[in-house]
Amino acid sequence: IAEAREVRKHFGHLEVLKGINLTVKRGEVTCILGPSGSGKSTFLRCFNQLETMDGGYIKIDGQPLGVRINNGVLRKQAEAEIAKSRENIGMVFQGFNLFPHMTVLENICEAPIRVRKEERKTVTARAHELLKRVGLSDKAHSYPVSLSGGQQQRVAIARALAMEPKLMLFDEPTSALDPELVGEVLDVMRDLAKAGMTMIVVTHEIGFAREVGDNLVFMDGGYVIEQGDPREVLSNPQHERTQQFLAKVL
Ligand code: ATP
Ligand code: MG
Repeated sequence: IAEAREVRKHFGHLEVLKGINLTVKRGEVTCILGPSGSGKSTFLRCFNQLETMDGGYIKIDGQPLGVRINNGVLRKQAEAEIAKSRENIGMVFQGFNLFPHMTVLENICEAPIRVRKEERKTVTARAHELLKRVGLSDKAHSYPVSLSGGQQQRVAIARALAMEPKLMLFDEPTSALDPELVGEVLDVMRDLAKAGMTMIVVTHEIGFAREVGDNLVFMDGGYVIEQGDPREVLSNPQHERTQQFLAKVL
């Protein structure tokens, strides 16, 4: 479903991604692990074009992301294309990024109504389904501020799902949470994986990667150092850098 080839990105003199290759098959969960600053977030951000790539490409269902922008006319087209391909990709961040002035239900319904011009009735019905799925049926009319971090993150997941994405990206979705709230978010993600969602998850939750992951990618210094079956990589890492990193986090 998704294919990244030789993806490169630099900020000024700093080379953050030095040629990343990754293939994600439909229904698979890919977990990305690696030290701080290794480029994990930047790589995810390339997927929904929050960053432009300097080299290489990412294809979703065979369609390359990103359009070369040469002049004003093309730019408008490019923006429309970017918006279109973003609809296929849901993203959940470390911070929950909910709209504070909207209720939970409004947060979930906002993009389908505004971006996809769907009917409010249809979207509202779907939103209630999604809230049930993340275990928050009773919170539809609450405001984000009245929810715990774990609940907010579950709403953020429901909001991303409301656009019916083909691919879900998670960037350390549980790192900002109190330890006792991590489980409820991982449970929702586990259910989502079981239901067949294709997911790329940047996480330090080794247990999740081992249980739920189909592929584990270890990144360091802008490179993919090693990847494979999570149980293999975690129990028998081949590269010294992976070994050192795992020794610290396991
Ligand atoms: P962490 O585990 O801390 O989230 P990460 O692997 O997600 O780290 P990135 O956020 O991708 O790392 O950052 C990789 C490098 O790129 C870092 O050195 C960071 O300072 C730098 N960087 C990221 N975004 C920008 C930006 N917009 N401008 C300049 N430098 C940036
Ligand atoms: Mg990051």
